[in-house]
Amino acid sequence: MLENTKFYTLDEIAAQFGVSYQLVYRMVRTGELPALRFGKNYRVSEKDLESYLQRQREVVKEEVKSQTCSRCGKTFFSSQSMTGECKVCGAPLCMNCVTLDHAEFCSEHENRTPEQK
Ligand SMILES: [Zn+2]
Ligand SMILES: [Zn+2]
Repeated sequence: MLENTKFYTLDEIAAQFGVSYQLVYRMVRTGELPALRFGKNYRVSEKDLESYLQRQREVVKEEVKSQTCSRCGKTFFSSQSMTGECKVCGAPLCMNCVTLDHAEFCSEHENRTPEQK
């Protein structure tokens, strides 16, 4: 039944997440955030909003996995920053380590190669 479903206006969603109304409106228009139309206004059901947030969280988790360089331990916000990998274990190496230090190994395996000066 409709009565059991809570609906949010785009204004409420914008206020809740601290974003602009325009951003929420665009998400609705592009279909990113499912919404129903009530006359002139859009309403987003609680269920649709929750499943949208769930998807967002999964995307964030996915990105976090491959962000830490195995050599310098720095964290990057894009997996594209990982341009190399350790030749022994295949752990990711960041752009800085590869281009500036010519790194070919992670911090653990780097110390075991005396010919690497
Ligand atoms: Zn690095
Ligand atoms: Zn390694």
